[in-house]
Amino acid sequence: MDYVSTRGAAPRLDFRGATLAGLAEDGGLYMPEDWPVLSAEDLHALRDLPYAETAARILRPFVGSCMPKDDVRRLVEAAYAEFDHAAVTPLVQLDHRHWLLELHHGPTLAFKDIALQVLGRLFERFIRETGETITILGATSGDTGSAAIHAVAGRPGMRIVMLHPHGRVSEVQRRQMTTVMAANVHNIAIDGSFDDAQALVKALFADAAFRAEMRLSAVNSINWARLAAQIVYYVYAAVRLGAPEVAVSFSVPTGNFGDVFAGHVARAMGLPVRRLIVATNDNDIVVRGLAQGDYSRGPVVATAAPAMDIQVASNFERLLFDLAGRDGAATAARMAAFEASGRLRLEPDLLAAARAGFAAHRIDGHAMQRTIAWAHEKTGQLIDPHTAIGLAAARAEAESLDGPIVTLATAHAAKFGEAVERATGLRPPLPRRIAHIMTRAERCVRLPADAETLKAHIRALAPAERVAA
Ligand SMILES: *Cc1c(COP(=O)(O)O)cnc(C)c1O
Repeated sequence: MDYVSTRGAAPRLDFRGATLAGLAEDGGLYMPEDWPVLSAEDLHALRDLPYAETAARILRPFVGSCMPKDDVRRLVEAAYAEFDHAAVTPLVQLDHRHWLLELHHGPTLAFKDIALQVLGRLFERFIRETGETITILGATSGDTGSAAIHAVAGRPGMRIVMLHPHGRVSEVQRRQMTTVMAANVHNIAIDGSFDDAQALVKALFADAAFRAEMRLSAVNSINWARLAAQIVYYVYAAVRLGAPEVAVSFSVPTGNFGDVFAGHVARAMGLPVRRLIVATNDNDIVVRGLAQGDYSRGPVVATAAPAMDIQVASNFERLLFDLAGRDGAATAARMAAFEASGRLRLEPDLLAAARAGFAAHRIDGHAMQRTIAWAHEKTGQLIDPHTAIGLAAARAEAESLDGPIVTLATAHAAKFGEAVERATGLRPPLPRRIAHIMTRAERCVRLPADAETLKAHIRALAPAERVAA
């Protein structure tokens, strides 16, 4: 399987190349040149298989000749052995229409573990083949950082440098990062805001010499391998609810459009999906894009579902490419216009295609709170604000839909205990597997928001680790 850029002007790469590259040279995102097919027979064969075996079968055509079959299976088995539920992503029935697909049983209690536990292992393997040592650099406002750190900790050939704004992440979020003592994990608290931290990361990536010297790399959600790993749970859940004979709908709490795009791919491969419901908080660029064709950047509003507080949904570019005849030059022109003006109007045929594939809802803070309360009163489940936004959208669509509706539960309620307590009066306890972080020692360096200081700090990390490796 070869991968092509959404902007049509970067070299074709195999799975290994696309995984290591992240962003394509022309600024585009890598996509498989076509979708593998899941037949009705394939889906029947998946019904009784464990999660890891399902993942191995779904991933195989995407990996192609880059890894032997048995190695793919061993890799995903190791990744999902880290999860604390034997089903990995269990389905929980709420009522006669609604299910939750719990994606938060990984090491950091958020759905990003599902893809990052695989991506960390893929990086380790592919880097070993090149003999390089890479530095994964990122900035986090809370959640992605800990999932990335847990994916990389202790793996040879790579180190991770994760920036967070000093004093502006919750204590649990900070401790999930700073209590990881692996020698290749480096937390840096930046004096400034998340935007300052993000700007530093951009500045270091933009310095071509530093980037080459340190072999800088990223594990953000534009990486194709992450999306590939997320296709699996759509299939896993749908076959348990009767696919291919039954068509299931999914409601997806959406930020960067990565998770719901994986659902689009599952459908494109042949999984019968009745409707994909995109749910955002007040940061609704994707809802406006899909419902009215008005994909235009606005100011970021801070909400109780912070993992979805984004201005630009990077993976939306993949959808535009796929819906508009996979024309790289046309996608490049659209994205150039968007980058210049902050707006993009979907032409009528493109908007019609988007509307045919997706329903979209913006859920405000009140509706989110009411949905947390509803879930608790009616079903006994404590759900987090991100999941509640998905469930609110699912309930809004239910009347106009037949069949089961699955809401993706993207974070554990305990990660956002305050919001849950406000809605229900109950504080969800931290699960045992992470409760220990509240008493553990922390390791973190505090630096000013200055690119030269940060570069000097990262350069100084290098020798010690060569010894450790
Ligand atoms: C990242 C995240 C999302 C949004 O997922 P996208 O792939 O960016 O759309 C939703 N919920 C939680 C808890 C997340 O961490």
